[in-house]
Amino acid sequence: MLDKKSKQLFTKLLKKHSKFVISGHQGPDGDVIGSTLALALGLKKLGKKVLTYNHDGCPSTLKFLPRSQDFKNEIPKAFKNAVLITVDSGDLARLGSRIAEENFPEIWNIDHHQSNTRFGKYNFIDVKAGSTGQVVWELLSACKGFKLTKDIAQSLFCTLSTDTGSFRYSNATEEVFNMAAALVKAGAQPDVISQALYETYPQKRLFLLEKVLQTLKFEMDGKLALLYLTDSDLKAVGASGEESEEFVNFPRGVSGVKVVGFFKERAKDQWKVSLRSRDGVDVMKIAQKFGGGGHKLAAGCTMDGDKNAVEQKLKNTILELGSF
Ligand code: 5GP
Ligand code: MN
Repeated sequence: MLDKKSKQLFTKLLKKHSKFVISGHQGPDGDVIGSTLALALGLKKLGKKVLTYNHDGCPSTLKFLPRSQDFKNEIPKAFKNAVLITVDSGDLARLGSRIAEENFPEIWNIDHHQSNTRFGKYNFIDVKAGSTGQVVWELLSACKGFKLTKDIAQSLFCTLSTDTGSFRYSNATEEVFNMAAALVKAGAQPDVISQALYETYPQKRLFLLEKVLQTLKFEMDGKLALLYLTDSDLKAVGASGEESEEFVNFPRGVSGVKVVGFFKERAKDQWKVSLRSRDGVDVMKIAQKFGGGGHKLAAGCTMDGDKNAVEQKLKNTILELGSF
């Protein structure tokens, strides 16, 4: 839970400003999009002008959320002097190159990543929160005049569902379930959200999965599982990178696996790496070695080199850190 002081600070700061840009990390997931939309709707209800921004816009999988059509991937002139509120982003670079080039007068940083670098002028960070949406909910709830609408509830429920693995992970705490109950009471529909998030995808997603699973291999006595997604795989099935969301979780269930590394080709010899772990292995520490971050059991980074080189780098880091 956020402390009382943080909530008081947030409400006090809000009174001083009227214009906001809200952005989460590029390659947005359900927590980024849900937190952005919920906060935007809440602030608008409080009379603020708000721009919902993401470097990559809103992925098609999340377009079922109310007001998702409002997402912009550029900053109009009128918002260049707004306060930038970042959500679910451990560091500023995660927001993408266009934000980095802007010169916002003030940044407020709302997040739940343990690796957060506290880059904001004000930082509202709760590493125990199940999602950034939970922090947004606590901040909005502290504002006089805030009312939880069905649309806000729907977006906030989405943040909880995606970041707690549908309420299965250790971050699905009593607080999370209490919040989920309040959201359902306000009109959030778990069935509609779950179906949209997990049971609605095009055929090409499965063809892409087929390609990615062909690359699956187990190393280090079966403790490390590796997967690759290349640009040519994407072209072959006509899919975009967002279609591979969650693939990293398949090998995590294999007995004996402690870490999964999913390498997604970004450019020649450059890979976006998703790391997942179980049994308490800390993949955030591994990701941080490569300038990335995240949570203990789910983290990410960018690595340079060809397939063999990046694989070797990952193995060396696991050995160096004694991760297993
Ligand atoms: P994913 O593998 O789903 O992209 O990310 C897993 C977790 O690690 C998420 O919480 C995400 O925000 C974080 N993460 C992924 N890539 C990076 C990165 O390059 N830098 C930082 N700081 N966090 C990352
Ligand atoms: Mn999150």
